[in-house]
Amino acid sequence: MTAASGLDPAAGVTAGVERLPLFLDLRQRRVAVVGGGRVAARKLAELTVAGARPLVVAPTVTPAIAELAAAGVVEWKSRRYTRGDLEGAWLAFAATDEPAVNRQVVADAEADRVWAVDCSSATESPAWGALRVPAGDGVTVAVSGGGDPGRGKALAAAVESMLDVGELPSRRVREGSPGRVYLVGGGPGDPELITVRGRRLLAVADVVVMDRLAPWPALATLAADVEVIDVGKAPGRHAMSQEQINDLLVHRARAGKVVVRLKGGDPFVLGRGGEEALACAAAGVPVTVVPGVTSAVSVPAAAGIPVTHRGVAASFLMVSAHTADEALARARQVSSDTTLVLLMGVKTLPAVVAGLIDSGRDPATPVAIVERGWQPGQRTTVGDLTDIAARADAAGVQSPAVVVVGDVVGLRARLLAPDAVGSDRVPVAVAAMAGDPR
Ligand code: SAH
Repeated sequence: MTAASGLDPAAGVTAGVERLPLFLDLRQRRVAVVGGGRVAARKLAELTVAGARPLVVAPTVTPAIAELAAAGVVEWKSRRYTRGDLEGAWLAFAATDEPAVNRQVVADAEADRVWAVDCSSATESPAWGALRVPAGDGVTVAVSGGGDPGRGKALAAAVESMLDVGELPSRRVREGSPGRVYLVGGGPGDPELITVRGRRLLAVADVVVMDRLAPWPALATLAADVEVIDVGKAPGRHAMSQEQINDLLVHRARAGKVVVRLKGGDPFVLGRGGEEALACAAAGVPVTVVPGVTSAVSVPAAAGIPVTHRGVAASFLMVSAHTADEALARARQVSSDTTLVLLMGVKTLPAVVAGLIDSGRDPATPVAIVERGWQPGQRTTVGDLTDIAARADAAGVQSPAVVVVGDVVGLRARLLAPDAVGSDRVPVAVAAMAGDPR
């Protein structure tokens, strides 16, 4: 190998020979991975993300690799490596735990002019894999630790955390590149409950289009010149119509902007995200959806209520209670051990609980209303179908709130260890529970 490359690779590391970083388009290309252990599994995960057609050569493989092989995502030759296994490959990884085999793979690759990475020895390896840190919108930071994987990992982790808080200038500077829209689920309001992908996309956005329920604190670290547009309803102000919002997204993207449409919860759960995605697609604007933590599940959790629980409820029905009839029509179709999760249900609460009793739900069924879940001022009001409307009225319950109907509400007392779940420390809930004979 040394003779073929004309270089002493060991000298390359020690004598400061510069290596050339490259980003390879591996889609549909054959990549050989020799070895079937932990290191090979990690490489295979990266290769499948990159769209390669990996071939694994190893007598035994980890369960994860076996699954990839069973799914047809990778091809697996279940035997030891032999000369010829690299045929047709563009790239090879020597990832066995036998240094001699790895060296042989590298030597064969060298003879065939295939780039090879020796995962067991930086000094023996013609090519090094980089640690990849995706920054969103196609931006990637690749890190090399100069042959010291621990050093590379520490550096990559530092880059990741800087990306996560928006401390790195990952926004575009070149004018004239095409724009696009990212429909990002912001979660229930706590800025830590947005996904990593969503957070990184915020850091690359030129324009952020928000509404009332989106996690506003997540914007604190945006650069000053990012355009932030609030399309949500605020008291005394007109909200934009859905059509105006769709037009806004399309126009900004057509002007070449990276647009993040930041929505509360998950964009495809009662949030009209589907309509926005369709409007972009119809206008020929590329649009990508980034899911989020929906309030339907996470807001009950913040109050110590699991929407399902073994032996209590095996299913839940999430339904819009924007109108009582709409909610009741659906609720009647499920059995009474199905948890009901009502969104947009504060105004219609009296009509909904009356209708549930009328349609045969046990009047003693516990009900919880969780306001402002995962946000400052989170508060839970608890009662049963007969008295929750009065209790909500007395407490002055307001939107946004999630209403949970079902026996799972009773688990709250046991699950709500201080600080264990959410920030539900408000005495109203405790008072309501204490005054409750159940
Ligand atoms: N796409 C959102 C739901 C939008 S509908 C999601 O997946 O969560 C708006 C309703 O969501 C509100 O009326 C309320 O019922 C609920 N909601 C959203 N965020 C909430 C929060 N932080 N606390 C309580 N309810 C919330």
